[in-house]
Amino acid sequence: MKHSIEVTTKIGCSNVCEYCPQSTLIKRYRERIGHDKDTMMSLETFKKSISTMPTEIGLNFTGYVEPFLNPECTDMLIHAFDKGHELLLNTTLVGMTIEDWDRLRRHGVVFQHGVHVHLPSASYFEMIGAKVPQKYYTADDGKQYLELDDNYYEMLNHVVNNQMPYWTKFHCHGDLHPLLNDLKRYVELDVRNINSRAMNILLEKKEKVSDEINIRGKCPRAYQNVLLPDGSLGLCCQDYGLDDIMGNLVDNTWDEFVNSERVQDVRTNGADLCDYCEEGIDYVGDKENQWRRPQQIK
Ligand code: SF4
Repeated sequence: MKHSIEVTTKIGCSNVCEYCPQSTLIKRYRERIGHDKDTMMSLETFKKSISTMPTEIGLNFTGYVEPFLNPECTDMLIHAFDKGHELLLNTTLVGMTIEDWDRLRRHGVVFQHGVHVHLPSASYFEMIGAKVPQKYYTADDGKQYLELDDNYYEMLNHVVNNQMPYWTKFHCHGDLHPLLNDLKRYVELDVRNINSRAMNILLEKKEKVSDEINIRGKCPRAYQNVLLPDGSLGLCCQDYGLDDIMGNLVDNTWDEFVNSERVQDVRTNGADLCDYCEEGIDYVGDKENQWRRPQQIK
């Protein structure tokens, strides 16, 4: 099976998207990985972690954070590309500079699996592109929205006008922020729904999922582990609680990692977290009351 590893370049995301279990992640990283460990991945750790990884393993710069909150993200992408890995980038553009984008283009970095630009939402609280300190304005619909920052508009304009040669796509969660509505005339917009992250976002965790939707032991995501700043790997994109640490690529080679008893077992039988994974269930509409705090609902 051709598979990939997700890269989390830093623990703790300043976008604080309402539907992303960041506080769980930050607390558990400290508890499970160690209070002395860096929350920012160094370029050296990244290089070491992928040094023994075969190049047929793709690298997805997605993970549990906006990747460009790490100032060495561009260097990591260039290094991974030069080494021969296929790449995917999911970014809110926060932390990225015009020079970062232009460097990637000048170097000829190819994102075979695309650049996915996550735009600010009208429906959910996010700090993507927002002015700091926060400032609200009242829109035509009578609701209040965060004002967006001038540097963000400039960065977004640059990306829209200088897209990566392979492909660049745009998406948001819920409705698009009203200040960006004009963008719909220029780019195709994908709307993504909200996933419970194996119940990590729910205000109260429920029982295990029923047998009909339980995909434990049959899920390709068990082959898409998440590289963390210290070189350890979380199970998958749902494992914000770091319930299933699979190994460490600073301490072990790729072969030692994939052939370990732990990885072999999880790839065959799944992990306990999988019993709470709600693949295919979107937490929108009536289900929002299971994760949104009432004061957050407009
Ligand atoms: S928790 Fe298990 S079932 Fe869910 S995405 Fe991760 S590996 Fe797949």
